[in-house]
Amino acid sequence: MPELPEVEVTRRSFRDAIVGARVQSVRMGKPLRWPLGVEPQALAGRVVQEVRRRGKYLLVDLDAGMLLLHLGMSGSLRFAPEQGAAGVHDHFDMQTDHGMLRLHDPRRFGAVVHVTGEEDPLAHKLLDGLGMEPLDPASFRFERFAAGLQSSRTPIKQLLLGGKLVVGVGNIYASEVLFLARIDPQLPARDVGPRKVRRLFDGIREVLALAVAQGGTTLRDFSSADGMPGHFQLQAKVYGRDGQPCVGCGRPIRMLRQGQRSTYFCAHCQK
Ligand SMILES: [Zn+2]
Repeated sequence: MPELPEVEVTRRSFRDAIVGARVQSVRMGKPLRWPLGVEPQALAGRVVQEVRRRGKYLLVDLDAGMLLLHLGMSGSLRFAPEQGAAGVHDHFDMQTDHGMLRLHDPRRFGAVVHVTGEEDPLAHKLLDGLGMEPLDPASFRFERFAAGLQSSRTPIKQLLLGGKLVVGVGNIYASEVLFLARIDPQLPARDVGPRKVRRLFDGIREVLALAVAQGGTTLRDFSSADGMPGHFQLQAKVYGRDGQPCVGCGRPIRMLRQGQRSTYFCAHCQK
């Protein structure tokens, strides 16, 4: 599943190229997770003003209205001056005078939704529950983060994964940041000590920023909208390393299930 760094890398890969572009036509393929909400041709003539991100949603601001894009489980976006004929898994093509934005999504859990703007009830429904933005210092505040942990008995890994306190700490990054902060992923959030809360807060910012700088992760065949693969997977210290030696102590990395998700950790280093 594309995680926040991949979505941010995707955003950066086509933002400059598409801003100022005028929409010429829109073609929808098979149904995605949610309907577009407007006749595709109604978008013709609109001009792209900005491409922003909130959590794992991309917000494409038009001169009237906005598109909310989500990559779901298997989606990827590509923006290029020329693209070939739509394939069987291409379910959204937006042709502009700068090129075509195409959503390729084999599993179709992704979505493209048209709303009037951020004040649209549907936009509220999709975006309101999202936690702080870890890459935005104005949003990601230590005091709020610490208070969120203090008031929760949920195991820390699952609290992070839930996305209501802070977005973007998906399954891969949750394992990695908890290893860096030396925190047992099963520990109730309120029992994480103050020094480790600080380490965790710093670790989330650093790991996600590093993942973005490195182009996201290709753990699940991710590539950004300009077709470049990510490299974060090369740096993973615990994720996917079940049975391999811990880089800290040499003991084997262990895997356990929390909720329906795999957690990787070192039982010796993370207490
Ligand atoms: Zn270890």
